[in-house]
Formats: sequence, C-alpha cells, structure tokens
Amino acid sequence: MDAFEYNANPSRVVFGSGTLQKLPDEIARLQLKSPLVLSTPQQIGQAESVKNVLKGQVAGIFGEATMHTPTHITDKALEYAKAQGADSVISIGGGSTIGLGKAISIRTGLPHICIPTTYAGSEMTPILGETADGLKKTRSDPKILPGTVIYDVDLTMTLPANMSATSGVNAIAHAGPFLRPICIQLKPSTPATPTQSSIWWPLKEPVHWPAPSPEIVENPSSLSARSNALYGAWLCGTCLGSVGMSIHHKLCHTLGGSFNLPHAETHTAVLPHAISYNAPNIPDAMNKLAEVLPGSNGDAIHGLNVLLAKLKVKRGLKDYGLKEEDVDKAADIAVSNPYWNPRAIEREPIRELIRRVWAGEPAN
Ligand code: NAD
Repeated sequence: MDAFEYNANPSRVVFGSGTLQKLPDEIARLQLKSPLVLSTPQQIGQAESVKNVLKGQVAGIFGEATMHTPTHITDKALEYAKAQGADSVISIGGGSTIGLGKAISIRTGLPHICIPTTYAGSEMTPILGETADGLKKTRSDPKILPGTVIYDVDLTMTLPANMSATSGVNAIAHAGPFLRPICIQLKPSTPATPTQSSIWWPLKEPVHWPAPSPEIVENPSSLSARSNALYGAWLCGTCLGSVGMSIHHKLCHTLGGSFNLPHAETHTAVLPHAISYNAPNIPDAMNKLAEVLPGSNGDAIHGLNVLLAKLKVKRGLKDYGLKEEDVDKAADIAVSNPYWNPRAIEREPIRELIRRVWAGEPAN
C-alpha cells in the first residue's frame, strides 16, 4: 500500500423513510432553538412541513433560494436571519437551497442541517459555488460541509421523473473511485485510500451499491427505486466531497457558469463525452464501468448511451440555449486553467467534444 494522507468528512447522516420526523431530536441534540428554514419558491410547502414538524418553533421561512447561489439573495437571507434571531439554518431542497444554506453558514458560523430532495449531492461536499456580477466562483473549505444531513426518501417522491433522471446522472458523475479515473480524479500523488477503495468499490464490496437503473422514470412512485437512488446519491456525493475534480466537472462548471445552463441537465449531456475523451488512458476503469452498466456488452460508452436513452433525457445543450457560436468561447475557457486529468487537455479535441455536446450527438 502506498503512503497517503486522508481527511474524512465529519458530517452526521440520518437516512430512511419518514426521517423528517427525527428533525426535533437533531435540533435538541445540537441545542438549537430558532432555525431559519430555507427553500426555493417551488418548495415552500415542504418548508412549511419542516415548520410543522418543529411545532412552529422556527425563526422563519426564507423561500427565495435559486440556482447558482447569487450573492444578492444570500445577503437578503442574511438580513432576514439576523432580524429573526436565527441560531441555525435548515435547507430543504436540492443543490440550490443547500448552496444558500452553505453560503449563510460559512458567513455566520451558524450550524447547517440539510434535508436534500434531489440527487445532486451538495450536502456531502465542502464546496460552495456562488454567483456575483454574472461570474460563478467556487471555493472549498471544511467549514462549508453541513453538520447534519437528513435523507428522507418520502420528500423525493415529488421530484418529477425528468428531473429525477438528470439529477440521477448528476449523481453518477460524482461516483469518484468508481469512475474516479474518468470524471473525478484524485491527484496522481494522492492514491485512493483504503477507506475509499474498500467502501466504494461497487462490485465486490460490503456496501450495497445500487446499479444505475431507469426505474424511477418508468415508475416515479416506486419507493424502493427512490430509496436506492437517494442512497446512491449519498454514496456518490460522499465521493465528490472526498476527491479533486477533472475534465467532467471542469467542463460542466465552464458551461453551466459561463452560459447559465441548468446544472443536472448539463452534467447529463457532458458525462458520456467526458468519459469518452479520457477512455484511451483509462482502460481498467472503462472495463469496470462496462461491468456495472446493464446492456453495455463490454462497452461502457454504449452502456451509458443505453441508460440515457431509457432515461429519455435531452442530449444536446443547444436545447437549453447554448449557441453554436458559444462552442469556441467555451473551448477557450475550458483550456485556460490547467488541471490534472488522465489525458492531456488539448484545445482541438476539447472543442470537438463541446461541439458534440452542443449538437447532442451521442458519444462514441
Ligand atoms: P435545484 O436545487 O435547483 O432544484 C431544481 C428545482 O427542483 C427547484 O425548483 C427545486 O425547488 C425543485 N425540487 C427539488 N426537489 C424537489 C422535490 N423533491 N420535489 C419537487 N420539486 C423539487 O437543482 P439541483 O440539481 O439539486 O441543484 C443544482 C444546484 O446545486 C446548482 O447551483 C449546482 O451548482 C449546485 N450543486 C452544488 C454542489 C456542490 O457540491 N457544491 C453539488 C451539486 C450541485
């Protein structure tokens, strides 16, 4: 075994069905009295449920969370938190709401309890992306990691099938050591740790790793499919929180941040192409990926294409507003900041990758 250094992320996780009911215990355990509940305007109803579970004992509900965590919304939420005397924040929602919770918590030191309702995985990472003046900046700090995460599968039942599909692929893109050499990469000097390789390796290990499946799209009200997806999202989010990132996330960040494209949908369009780009340099990982993707016939990219077809997701970013003339601009941005990747980042093949993602051509 090579030498390594590893920092485990310390958050507490409560997982199950109906676990929202455990929130009062968690609040008592942390000795909190007055949490501010955060949500998007679309999830005010779920924020009200949190308030009801806490018998009205909240500082208030701030229901203006939005994509990409704009700092002017954070400022407004901070003012409200202060005016209401909040001693903590509870974010109920997807990555957008959790991002707002992280932004408030890192500025104030207030404890942050997350109740995730998508598969985006932000609750398990020490990463915060914020937007100011049209520019999205990302930072990483252990203090950003939420202290407590309550996964309640019941709260995910309302996530529409199409959003579940793209959010699920977003989770797959986080599956670090599983796809580690492909889309998220530990720096070459930082090998996988025993913890990671023994916990996360999907095929042979004690932890049950759900196989990628289109079941939720076929039957959105399946509690067992939803439960598997949320559990997988936790595993994948933990991977994301433990490793560095390379081509897949860098491209998604460039495309999402610079052209205001939707997060999960962008991940879904980019993932097969990012894997295909690195494929020549990672034969072992490609074989393992092919093994876990049903219908791959030994070809991981084919397996991913089969899965995406069954998920009925859009494949082209032109469908989300990316323009053909943006392809060159995106390629320039994508190669401007060097980072580690299994295959060298070269402008022409990256431009062609982005063009294919724009057009929605399947990866090969
Ligand atoms: P989102 O949070 O923007 O949610 C999308 C929409 O779905 C919202 O309107 C939301 O209210 C609604 N929604 C969420 N859960 C629902 C449910 N169960 N039922 C009905 N509606 C529901 O989308 P997302 O993909 O979860 O998050 C995207 C954001 O998270 C981006 O800003 C991205 O940068 C960030 N993110 C950050 C990290 C990180 O580690 N920092 C990781 C992943 C995503």
